[in-house]
Amino acid sequence: MCDMKTRFEKIDSNNINKDIINEAGDIIKAGGLVAFPTETVYGLGGDALNAKSSEKIYAAKGRPSDNPLIVHIDNIDSLKEISDDVPDEAYKLADAFWPGPLTMIVNKNEKVPKETTGGLSTVAIRMPDDEIALAFIKAAGGFIAAPSANTSGRPSPTLAEHVRDDLDGKIEMILDGGQVGIGVESTIVDLTEGTPTILRPGYVTQEMLSKVLGDVDTDRTILEGTFAAKPKAPGMKYRHYAPKASMSLIEGDIEKIVSVMNSRYSEAKSKGLKVGIMCSSQIFDKVNGDVKKDLGNREDEREIAHNLYKVLREFDEEDVDIIYGECFSKEGFGQAVMNRLLKAAGFTVISE
Ligand code: AMP
Ligand code: MG
Repeated sequence: MCDMKTRFEKIDSNNINKDIINEAGDIIKAGGLVAFPTETVYGLGGDALNAKSSEKIYAAKGRPSDNPLIVHIDNIDSLKEISDDVPDEAYKLADAFWPGPLTMIVNKNEKVPKETTGGLSTVAIRMPDDEIALAFIKAAGGFIAAPSANTSGRPSPTLAEHVRDDLDGKIEMILDGGQVGIGVESTIVDLTEGTPTILRPGYVTQEMLSKVLGDVDTDRTILEGTFAAKPKAPGMKYRHYAPKASMSLIEGDIEKIVSVMNSRYSEAKSKGLKVGIMCSSQIFDKVNGDVKKDLGNREDEREIAHNLYKVLREFDEEDVDIIYGECFSKEGFGQAVMNRLLKAAGFTVISE
């Protein structure tokens, strides 16, 4: 792709500069790409109803074209403009969780090009909870296709600088709204086949969805390394969120994790390797490492999620050979955090 000049614009969510938002909207209407903040991670936006825009998104990210994009909307009524049979469950979930970190899969209609949905007859839709994102989507015509704004395979961006590192020269504009709040991607729930099924865990948990819908399943591949040959969310078959160094997770109680981390460190040192350690504040002072990163309080999965991708990217700057990471609880929102950690580690878990 030929290099272009990427505009970098700071936006204050408490005092949104309408001129910049309108310029961003015009770029989308003209078929260009704009990265923007949401409450989950930064998105790489293009016109969801324009096949050429979606093709540009795949090209800028280096993303396989069978991995569908999420369509972002700014109001609930837009659902029925791109789907002719929106199930009741979708409205119930929208009432409960939108705007918010929940993506729903429904059948698409002919307005949505196949390029946006990776060839599928279904479409993923979300209304984000971020004032800048909502203003931008509106200014752009109401339907923004946006995957995470990272190069395919790298950790998702939680700061505008992460987007710049990956996409500078490849897109027209980056809207900088500062660090995002949640830090991991939205929950994805499929409403097109029988019992609603979580295809990707996120801040909205199975328990929260069940309170609204009753029975909700979770796709079994989420915390297992064994991917189905044809997973329901095509994105799940690709390696994701990964730092450049190889990474292993260590599980067990906190004392066990400390002792295994320290013995693995000594072993790696004897081989002349540079070792990264990614752990909670609780054990930070007890473990040895050449580069140590503190993810925060292990009892607070929101804090861990908020820091996770930033820390994974920091390791790439440090040129470590190997990273040992701490395992956390898989309860509630912890399931989403552990899903991302496991994917980053290629499901390598040490439990001695
Ligand atoms: P990203 O926005 O980069 O986090 O990626 C979007 C995720 O949503 C990918 O894992 C996709 O596979 C998934 N996705 C998007 N559309 C669909 C769909 N129609 N059916 C199933 N999964 C989808
Ligand atoms: Mg992504």
